[in-house]
Amino acid sequence: MEEVGIPHIPRFTSGYLNGSSWLVHTIDQTTGFRASSESAFLRPFLTRPNLAVYKNTLAEKIVGKVATGVQVTSEGHTFLLAASKEVIVSADLDSLPSDWPEIQYFNLPAYVGDFWNPGVGGPTDGNYATIMATLIAPKCRGNVSISSSSMHDQPLINPNWLTQQVDVELLTAGFKRLRQIFQASVLQENLTIGPEYYPGDKVSTEEQIHHFIQDAFQTMYHAAVTCKMRKPDDEMAVVDSHGLVYGTKRLRVVDASVFPFLPPNLPQGTIYELNFD
Ligand SMILES: Cc1cc2nc3c(=O)[nH]c(=O)nc-3n(C[C@H](O)[C@H](O)[C@H](O)COP(=O)(O)OP(=O)(O)OC[C@H]3O[C@@H](n4cnc5c(N)ncnc54)[C@H](O)[C@@H]3O)c2cc1C
Repeated sequence: MEEVGIPHIPRFTSGYLNGSSWLVHTIDQTTGFRASSESAFLRPFLTRPNLAVYKNTLAEKIVGKVATGVQVTSEGHTFLLAASKEVIVSADLDSLPSDWPEIQYFNLPAYVGDFWNPGVGGPTDGNYATIMATLIAPKCRGNVSISSSSMHDQPLINPNWLTQQVDVELLTAGFKRLRQIFQASVLQENLTIGPEYYPGDKVSTEEQIHHFIQDAFQTMYHAAVTCKMRKPDDEMAVVDSHGLVYGTKRLRVVDASVFPFLPPNLPQGTIYELNFD
């Protein structure tokens, strides 16, 4: 990576993200299995007398501007869960300082191909490797609208992908960088690298690259920023710096929706930090 201008850095948890390093995973060191917020922070505390978990239960409505509880439905029964102190929502839905990275590259020891149908139509011979370029802090902004006041109706999600020219240009540059990485002398001298399988040399001009990106582009699933944490004079502000919802009392939101912008890198660690605060 150094050969294509991306320096090695010790780790991504240092707060400095411009560089190349091993990716940090949340793995239970005793079992070797990937840990989630449920397995790491909920399951070990299920026996606590002050914790009740309602499974298969849909939160439908927060009751009152001074939040007194949540109306929920479970197995066809609708009831109220009363809050003695406050209601904390962690349900998700799912402009950047210039020294933050805009593109994330990560590699897989396998053929991926079209990310809408990963692996489909892939080669059946030899060993394949994939490097992907991801727009980690896109400039384009999507929007989410409710289709009714019922939580049983799906919201309308408009991702607005690639509607900003700068995003298209960044991805084009990222695509070209991928080819440079495979051409790096350290790889060429130590490995026998065959021809590019996907998309292959039929995609080479600027126009062909743009078309390819439009067709093959996919999301990294980092939905965020639907409930912005901002100062009250921002018309898009929904919560204050403590996650308290403006115009209400005893109601907090603590999930990825409150990010004022999508942080670069992967969001999980930032969300856990926000939850603990
Ligand atoms: C396929 C995929 C891969 C990803 N990989 C990574 C990765 O490698 N690293 C990384 O950092 N991030 C990754 N992400 C992103 C990351 O998972 C999300 O950013 C993060 O989980 C958001 O956390 P959250 O607490 O805001 O919401 P969530 O983790 O989505 O939690 C919200 C919870 O609320 C529940 N809920 C929602 N509405 C209701 C309701 N009305 N009633 C009751 N319950 C409700 C949901 O069922 C869910 O359990 C990935 C996302 C996806 C989809």
